[in-house]
Amino acid sequence: MPLYEYHCKKCNDDFEELVSVSAQHNPACPSCKSEETEKKMSMFGGIGGASGGSCSPRGGFT
Ligand SMILES: [Zn+2]
Repeated sequence: MPLYEYHCKKCNDDFEELVSVSAQHNPACPSCKSEETEKKMSMFGGIGGASGGSCSPRGGFT
């Protein structure tokens, strides 16, 4: 299953979730249990927000 990054709109937390391609809804936030989450498009790695200038390869976060 693919690993997607999600952003919680309620507590502004970011988390990763393994989701089935057939999933019809976003996973709940592990921090506040809210389902007001949105999938982050991370396929290109650099979608605004991150101000770090390093050239670390994708997948470096744990
Ligand atoms: Zn949350």
